[in-house]
Amino acid sequence: MQTNENILTKNIWSLLQEVTDPEVPVLTIIDLGIVRDVKINKAGAENEIEVVITPTYSGCPAMDVIRMNIRMVLLEHGFKNVQITTILSPAWTTDWMSDAGKEKLKAYGIAPPNPKQQVCNTQLFAEDEAVQCPHCNSYNTRRISEFGSTACKSLFQCNDCHEPFDYFKCY
Ligand SMILES: [Zn+2]
Repeated sequence: MQTNENILTKNIWSLLQEVTDPEVPVLTIIDLGIVRDVKINKAGAENEIEVVITPTYSGCPAMDVIRMNIRMVLLEHGFKNVQITTILSPAWTTDWMSDAGKEKLKAYGIAPPNPKQQVCNTQLFAEDEAVQCPHCNSYNTRRISEFGSTACKSLFQCNDCHEPFDYFKCY
């Protein structure tokens, strides 16, 4: 039998699916893998909902918006007592992004991050990193700029279909 607390926790997790990344609106914060935990803390008469998140990278301006949106979604569903805790360690990596999230990114025209162990185990951005074009699936692509539409992305262009596209950099 499930306790009320378990049901409540599940309910919160599903509400968090409504919170999207302001920079990539097709991705929810669950897809991104930044929600680490949901806790129900007994605090007097009313329970406190604690949402534990790890930022995609420190200083990402989207995180303030995400924190605010978490509060708004929970408030809309009657949860007023919300605590958002940020933990920085272990650091978020693009490997925490769900497969569903990667699929959504690609459908949105952004190349999803390559697996971390494959490419980003050095500080230097691998010059020869093979990034797949989200439009025609060709690996014959080149990086045009280290920074795309936001700091988390690089701008690439496909040598086959000539379409430019953002690549969600791996961390
Ligand atoms: Zn292409």
